[in-house]
Amino acid sequence: MSAGRYAMVVDTRLCVACKACVLACKAENNLAEGYCRDWLVEEVHGEFPKLRAENRSERCNHCSEAPCVDACPTGASHIAGGGVVLVTPDKCTGCKACMAACPYDARYLTPEGFVDKCTFCLHRVQRGEQPACVTVCPTRTLHFGDLDDPTSEVARLLVDRKWKVNHPESGAHPNVYFLV
Ligand code: SF4
Ligand code: SF4
Ligand code: SF4
Repeated sequence: MSAGRYAMVVDTRLCVACKACVLACKAENNLAEGYCRDWLVEEVHGEFPKLRAENRSERCNHCSEAPCVDACPTGASHIAGGGVVLVTPDKCTGCKACMAACPYDARYLTPEGFVDKCTFCLHRVQRGEQPACVTVCPTRTLHFGDLDDPTSEVARLLVDRKWKVNHPESGAHPNVYFLV
């Protein structure tokens, strides 16, 4: 899969908050005990008796105007193919400037002293596979693909369904979309 702009589309109506996506990410990416690249936000919307659960599997938004990249003084944070925002551990000094700049609290400092976050599983995507979290989700909540391809599943979902992004006012232009 090669791309112009990779994106994730999360169907908040299908997610059952099982957290399989969180566990799969930890296993796939060998994350240290107590650290996660994705997480669940569970909210209830509406008024009784018309209540609706909204479960959002969240991660780095791979923002098109990424403030974390602008804030990084060493070039460790950068934009790779398909618009995927990455951190080069060897270049990261652990100064946390990117963590302060991220409006989504998507980054963390590893015990080894470099900053880490979701990579959209680019190592898998470059092999033609889907991200680990996408493959394990039992309810097919998570969709990944190229938004610049109008025939892709993610592009079609955003045409067919209502959606939102987190903190659109941030100006970061996030590329993780939530179907509502
Ligand atoms: Fe929700 Fe799917 Fe993650 Fe389970 S694996 S928490 S259903 S997104
Ligand atoms: Fe950077 Fe945060 Fe956007 Fe991810 S969500 S690209 S860490 S600003
Ligand atoms: Fe983790 Fe990969 Fe999913 Fe990102 S895309 S949350 S790195 S499993």
